[in-house]
Amino acid sequence: MHTCGGCTATWTGTRKAHCSGCHTTWATVRLFDRHRCAEGEHGSCVDPTSLVDGAGRPKVVLRDGVWGGPERTEAQKEALARMWAERKSGQDGRK
Ligand SMILES: [Zn+2]
Ligand SMILES: [Zn+2]
Repeated sequence: MHTCGGCTATWTGTRKAHCSGCHTTWATVRLFDRHRCAEGEHGSCVDPTSLVDGAGRPKVVLRDGVWGGPERTEAQKEALARMWAERKSGQDGRK
């Protein structure tokens, strides 16, 4: 169990990242990085709710106090699996 010295947040799991700037907890360091921007002396944080894709869909959703990627629909999972399979076969073909 991890705790933050600046707020009451607690979280478990080493993959998670808590921001000591805006006190948000992120499911992965990669997502954490997305809410950080280079503005300001020590960088700054953007509001997680402002992280949206080109179509205005949220890139992160708050679940149990942790910001994580949105649940994928079955169709999206299938498309992703297909994409990876194609990528893999493409690499094999180049050998
Ligand atoms: Zn932050
Ligand atoms: Zn905190």
